Amino acid sequence: MSDKIVLLPDNIANQIAAGEVIQRPASAVKELLENAVDAGANDIRLIIQDAGKSLVQVIDNGSGMSESDARMCFERHATSKIRQIDDLFHIRTMGFRGEALASIAAVAQVELKTKRAEDEAGVCLEVENSVVTKLEPVATPTGTSIAMKNLFFNVPARRNFLKTNASEMRHIVDEFTRVALAFPAIRFTFTANGEQLFHLEPGSLKQRIVQLLGNNYNAKLVTVKEHTDYLDISGFVGKPETAKKTRGDQYFFVNNRFIRSPYLQHAVMNAYQELIPGDSYPMFVLFIDLDPAQVDVNVHPTKQEIKFEDEKIVYAFVHAAIKHALAQFSVTPTLDFELDAGIQQLSSIQQPFTQEKQSAAAASLLFRGFSQKHQAHLIEPGRQSFPDWNDFYKTENVETPASSGSSTAQNESGLWGKTEDDAELFQLLNTYIVTPSQKGFLLVHQQQAHERVLYERLTAASQGQPITSQPSLFPVNIELTPSDAVLLTELLPDLKLLGYLVEPFGKNSFVIQGTPADIDNDNDKHLFDFLLEQYKHYSTDIKFTPREKLIRSVARQQAIKTGVRLTEREMKNLLQDLFSCQQPNATPDGRPTYLEFKQDELEGMFRR
Ligand code: ADP
Ligand code: MG
Repeated sequence: MSDKIVLLPDNIANQIAAGEVIQRPASAVKELLENAVDAGANDIRLIIQDAGKSLVQVIDNGSGMSESDARMCFERHATSKIRQIDDLFHIRTMGFRGEALASIAAVAQVELKTKRAEDEAGVCLEVENSVVTKLEPVATPTGTSIAMKNLFFNVPARRNFLKTNASEMRHIVDEFTRVALAFPAIRFTFTANGEQLFHLEPGSLKQRIVQLLGNNYNAKLVTVKEHTDYLDISGFVGKPETAKKTRGDQYFFVNNRFIRSPYLQHAVMNAYQELIPGDSYPMFVLFIDLDPAQVDVNVHPTKQEIKFEDEKIVYAFVHAAIKHALAQFSVTPTLDFELDAGIQQLSSIQQPFTQEKQSAAAASLLFRGFSQKHQAHLIEPGRQSFPDWNDFYKTENVETPASSGSSTAQNESGLWGKTEDDAELFQLLNTYIVTPSQKGFLLVHQQQAHERVLYERLTAASQGQPITSQPSLFPVNIELTPSDAVLLTELLPDLKLLGYLVEPFGKNSFVIQGTPADIDNDNDKHLFDFLLEQYKHYSTDIKFTPREKLIRSVARQQAIKTGVRLTEREMKNLLQDLFSCQQPNATPDGRPTYLEFKQDELEGMFRR
């Protein structure tokens, strides 16, 4: 038997490696735009044909390359940006892995024209299958033009994986937007199939945001600007009223590099708490600048994920900075903002620190700049407000509730069981139910509690006995947008399990033939709008199945809302249902359904 291991030829090894960096036309757009930025260009043109499948071209007026650099740049690990491993921790350029051009040359036909300012003539070079097929002098302006043609021409399997032109274009626009947002001082143009989509003149970040993300953000941006020794944060967040139901316009840049970070996103969302509904997303474009030694950008081939040396500090800082900015905004009358967008240029907005705070900041411990006087700026030590069900569960046995007919699991739970005296259960602020517990009392959030109850009920229904539907006496006709109609059609079978009988009725119309027997529907039309909106809200979450998303949406939609007065019977039923749940202590997405106040803790608060 002969040996089996062979070394792959370079071009095949390159093709395989290319899969990591160049997944689709948009990946090439990102890499080529970043190279142009790294080359110091202040004018960058992006040209696309056929959603990038036949052409992605980037033309810049940057440094250009010498002839031998032009030949070298397509080699794997060819980079001018780092020399030794240590340099990795001082990266100020977008690129450094020396892989992009090698990858592109492995999976497409490439034409490069480049000239340095000091050279008389430029050089034109063609590469195919990682091999230079043409090299000749050419008259060309200073700078570089790289055209990537026929992506994956030599890897048909990958080519077949490309999505529709509309979908690939969306990815391209996303990448273009990210780079263009990060460099408002650079002129960018973007032409697709001969039509100019963007023409962005150099300007302020604010102008760039409005040009890219839409005029409706004009006069609706709040400045964020904080400085400490550890890191700086700057940019804009949207005023609360611009929050959207879908997670669209959210951008983080770390040292000017776009990154994805659910963790930091959470820090921003948290700062908006109580300013926007829990199910909506604020707009933000935030730049975090810190010593490159504090971040590892080399954890992901496309560098969209990074690792912070100390993630918690960054989180706390982002959170505090946004709170600070929003606090400033809320003390400034809204009217002024609307009368004059330029009001935001006022120093009170531009400079969040007062003199006093500024000198404190200069003394420069992190957060020293955030005044204790303003509640909003305080970073709370994180009071444990999320009770652990098991704690309750382990409590001593309880007497059986005398009133209320049905016997349920709550009897065994030992948490809530003292309702003999009807007076010991009441509603507060039309939102909370107050009821004694074994060790003190519970404050139950009616909406969140009900959401949990419905969630478990609907989950059970989807797995076993479908929910009974009650035929509509007057079937309601609903009219949807084409995309919502497609969505609803997909959901019809699962909706049926949950008690909603809906039938297609011509183009984009549906008739509601029946709704769950045990709920009142005052407005069926509104109900479906809300349901679809909720569903879309979850639809960015890939970890859920469509059915799970639907169940969560319906539970949310049907849950009794805050502000609704409950009868004693309703309150009792709700508590009983809640404590019969498998996981009574939180909503499906993890918000508490109740808080427990223990008597000994209360005594402590009264210093007894
Ligand atoms: P990296 O950006 O990680 O260094 P690339 O494969 O993207 O790797 O590029 C390789 C090298 O080619 C770069 O380091 C740079 O020296 C050179 N280069 C690429 N694009 C340009 C450009 N538009 N202008 C000038 N030089 C470029
Ligand atoms: Mg690069």
